[in-house]
Amino acid sequence: MVEILHFKDYCFQYNNSQKLSLDKINFSLFQGDFVMIIGATGSGKSTLLKQFLPGLATGKVINGNLTKSVSNDKFAYVSQFVDNQIIMETPRDDLKFVLDNQGCTNNEIQLRITEVASFLGIIELLDKKITNLSGGQKQLINLAGALVLKPQVLLLDEPTAQLDPITSEKLLQMVRKVNQEFNMTIILVEHELEQAVQYANRLLVMEQGQILVDQPIEKG
Ligand code: ATP
Ligand code: MG
Repeated sequence: MVEILHFKDYCFQYNNSQKLSLDKINFSLFQGDFVMIIGATGSGKSTLLKQFLPGLATGKVINGNLTKSVSNDKFAYVSQFVDNQIIMETPRDDLKFVLDNQGCTNNEIQLRITEVASFLGIIELLDKKITNLSGGQKQLINLAGALVLKPQVLLLDEPTAQLDPITSEKLLQMVRKVNQEFNMTIILVEHELEQAVQYANRLLVMEQGQILVDQPIEKG
């Protein structure tokens, strides 16, 4: 198994906080993993995900360390808060912007946008004004923004939070497909255990900044 990163006794505290938000995390991520992280509100799920890329969480490592064997540009992150990441007027412009410094030709850019948008079923949204889209539609645009980068590791923080059950399930199926067909490594934060068991192959349960459970999910 190829290790992508490794947390050792890792403790993290936000700058404006008096307590640890991550408390002695020990965890290795392997290529091809589909990890589902669940846990109560405030348990540290988003904080853990934000450690994977520099600059996402404003705080300091109090103890331990994080070793990465994959460079930052191989990671794509989709925030829990949909409006954080969209800045252009239309989804198409937004996706173009994401691909701007990737060394793609204009043709390649349009091709990738069409490919990902049709995969996600959002072709008809591409030229709408982003300000007119629903929360769930914006969530799908954000996911598209991550997928057009063809990352090795995809970090998704509650991507189904604003989606109806049917769209949620479709999205999770699509994420599983990119995991299986493109061997993309996935870390996905969710609230529902039921969904975890169906789609991921590894489950982390967090509580008060700690990983309480880290176990493979057996498919029945
Ligand atoms: P949720 O399910 O609500 O998204 P979560 O498990 O993602 O919760 P985190 O956002 O990781 O929880 O928060 C973990 C802890 O860190 C909480 O106690 C929270 O108050 C604290 N925290 C989160 N963000 C910040 C911040 N920017 N500054 C200070 N403390 C923070
Ligand atoms: Mg969160």
